[in-house]
This record gives sequence, structure tokens and C-alpha cells, in this order.
Amino acid sequence: MSVITRDLFLYLSNNKTLNRAAQNWGATIASGKIVGGMDFPSSIKFIKELNNEGLSVTVDHLGEFVRSETVAKERTEECIQTIETIVAQQLDSHVSLKLTSLGLDISKDLVYENMMKIMESAEKNKVMVTIDMEDEQRCQDTLSIFKDLKKDYHYISTVLQAYLYRTEKDLDELNSYQPFLRLVKGAYKESPKVAFPEKEDVDNNYKKIIKKHLLNGNYAGIATHDDAIIEYTKRLVAEYNIPKHSFEFQMLYGMRSTTQRELVKEGYNMRVYVPYGRDWYGYFMRRLAERPANIAFALKGMTKK
Ligand SMILES: Cc1cc2nc3c(=O)[nH]c(=O)nc-3n(C[C@H](O)[C@H](O)[C@H](O)COP(=O)(O)OP(=O)(O)OC[C@H]3O[C@@H](n4cnc5c(N)ncnc54)[C@H](O)[C@@H]3O)c2cc1C
Repeated sequence: MSVITRDLFLYLSNNKTLNRAAQNWGATIASGKIVGGMDFPSSIKFIKELNNEGLSVTVDHLGEFVRSETVAKERTEECIQTIETIVAQQLDSHVSLKLTSLGLDISKDLVYENMMKIMESAEKNKVMVTIDMEDEQRCQDTLSIFKDLKKDYHYISTVLQAYLYRTEKDLDELNSYQPFLRLVKGAYKESPKVAFPEKEDVDNNYKKIIKKHLLNGNYAGIATHDDAIIEYTKRLVAEYNIPKHSFEFQMLYGMRSTTQRELVKEGYNMRVYVPYGRDWYGYFMRRLAERPANIAFALKGMTKK
């Protein structure tokens, strides 16, 4: 894909006017297609549909880079409510969150305090919480907070991005924690100083960390829409007799829905990442930056009743 197209969508993802407009027409356009809904309760029916078809879910309240302590605390309470609703509604769902939505850019004490509250509820309710990985500048803080929390809590996981040079070393350092890790290629615009600029190198590093993590005996969420990586994983687990219950595939809601169901039929665990919330516009633009072909898919989905 052209770098210009990718940069254009990443630029548009930060456009405040378009973002505000999208908040107004989001419910009709995006709900049930690329996001679960404008809030968690309205997403429940879509989550139940997925669960009924054998797909597990992880839900994410869209909206990151929170700059106000009050909002970060509200986000914390919402996460706790979501965990409680997952249990009350008997949903097969994890919770994904971003540390910048809980105050990472305000203070480390604040984000840690908020995460502790969420983890108390997660542990009590046995609901897994995954800390999404954001841009490289926040990677070290995210991993440090994850490691601290992992000492006290079992129901916590995080994400490693194959495009970062540092990731293999991070994986080695995390091994003693026996972590549940989601492994991804990486979604942010990073400098060649910190990330592989070439897709081929990213893909090779992705395969390398998938193999290492699985052979270390740790649970992996392999989060990709890429057939080549999915096929690689299938061959790898067959070769090393790695049981299907020790990993899962993950995909985004609305992307490759047929493939998601085919993988379930083949006996693989499949988890769908269901975002919800009024801040769907930036998320959507980042998906278009990854793959402009999603425009055709999105336009079709959005105009369909
Ligand atoms: C569940 C989940 C959670 C994620 N969490 C994070 C996170 O915490 N932090 C982060 O940085 N990133 C995250 N990502 C995004 C990730 O890093 C990638 O940016 C994104 O998944 C695109 O890479 P890819 O592996 O899907 O394949 P790509 O390299 O984008 O695509 C490779 C090939 O796959 C096929 N393909 C891709 N998309 C489609 C499609 N929609 N339909 C048909 N074919 C397709 C095409 O053949 C394409 O050429 C997450 C992704 C998923 C699925």
C-alpha cells in the first residue's frame, strides 16, 4: 500500500471536526458493523450472537489519550462495570483497555491506582484484562506496569508488537512471568529507529516471536487477519504437537467474519475484538490506514440495513 494513503488515513484519524461529526452519526452507521455499539449495553446483543457461534470476545471501550484525571477515573469505573456486566450476562468475554485512557499521560501513580481497582474486580470475577499496546514511547511504561501487576494478579495479559526491534528481548524478559500475550504486527506509525520499516521483516519477526512464545509453553493470542501467518501457525503447532487449547486466533469485529467462523469449525479458539463507544472514528481510520480495501467493505456494510 502506498505510504501516502496510509499517512492520509492516519492524519484523518486525528481530525477533531470529523471526529465530532462521527460521534453524532455513529450509532446508525457503525453499530453492529465495525463496532458493537455506542456503549457497552447496546453491544451485548452482538457479543451474544458471536458467543452463540462459538466465538469468544474481548471488548474495548474506544477512546485513548485521556488528559483529565476525572475522565480517567470515570473510565476506570466503566471498566469495572463492564467486568460485572460480563459476569451478570454470562458473556464469554475478556476486557481490553489502553493505559492512556486510565491516565498514563497524567501520572504513573494515577494509572497504577486505576489499574489496581480494575484488577481487584477482574480477579474476583475471573475476567481476563488485556492491556493493549500503544505507541513505542509508551511501551516501556506499559510493560513495567504489566510486570508489577502480574506479580499479584493472574487475570492480566498484554500485547507485544512484532514491528519493534525491542520485542524479542521483551519476550525473553517476560518469559518468567508465564504471561498470556497477544502478539500483533503493530498498528502505529513508528520511526525506523525503533521499528522494522519493511513488511517482510515485520512478518519474519512476527513468526519468530509466535514460535518462541508457543515453544516456551505460554498462552498466545495470535491477532492477525493475514492468511500467511495463520497458515504458518497451523503448520507450527502441528509440527511441535502444540495443543489447540494453548493458543487462540484473534481478529477485529467485522473483519474477515467468514474466516473467523471457519477457524472455529476447524476447532481453533477464536476471539473477536469488539470495540464500542462514540470515539469510533479514529479507530476506523486506523483500520483504513492498514488496509484501504477495507473502504469497499466498510461502505458496503454501512449502507446495508
Ligand atoms: C484482535 C486484535 C488486537 C490488536 N491489538 C493491537 C494492539 O494492542 N496494539 C497494536 O499496535 N496493534 C494491535 N492490533 C493491530 C495489529 O497490530 C495490526 O495493525 C493489524 O492487525 C493489521 O495487521 P495484520 O496482521 O492483520 O495483517 P496485515 O499485514 O495488515 O495484512 C496482511 C494480509 O492479510 C490480509 N488481510 C488483512 N486484513 C484483511 C481483511 N480485513 N480482509 C481480508 N484480508 C485481509 C491481506 O491479504 C493482507 O495483505 C490488533 C489487531 C487485532 C486483530
